[in-house]
Amino acid sequence: MGHTTCCIINCRKNGKNNANHFFKFPELRKAAAQRALWIRTVRKINKSDPGWEPKDHDRICQSHFVGENESKDASSPAYVPTLFADVTPHQWYRQQAGLKRWD
Ligand SMILES: [Zn+2]
Repeated sequence: MGHTTCCIINCRKNGKNNANHFFKFPELRKAAAQRALWIRTVRKINKSDPGWEPKDHDRICQSHFVGENESKDASSPAYVPTLFADVTPHQWYRQQAGLKRWD
């Protein structure tokens, strides 16, 4: 088995040791609404194409969840990954500001 990586592009947890916890995408049959929200978030953060779908091995690491844990409770802030401070900062600020590349 290869080591697990986070599917958030530029996540700093990638390539390090796996003391970090990684969460699988919610299953389509069990939690379709939650899964759709995770996918939408990843597409937005990664600026990937609108047809992107998670593969079986895709994971999101704990650093993107409030409380560092995912929740199955739709009223919880940890229901969807919302924290992306670990994404390479200059890219993150650029995304936040909606700025174009300047370099
Ligand atoms: Zn990550």
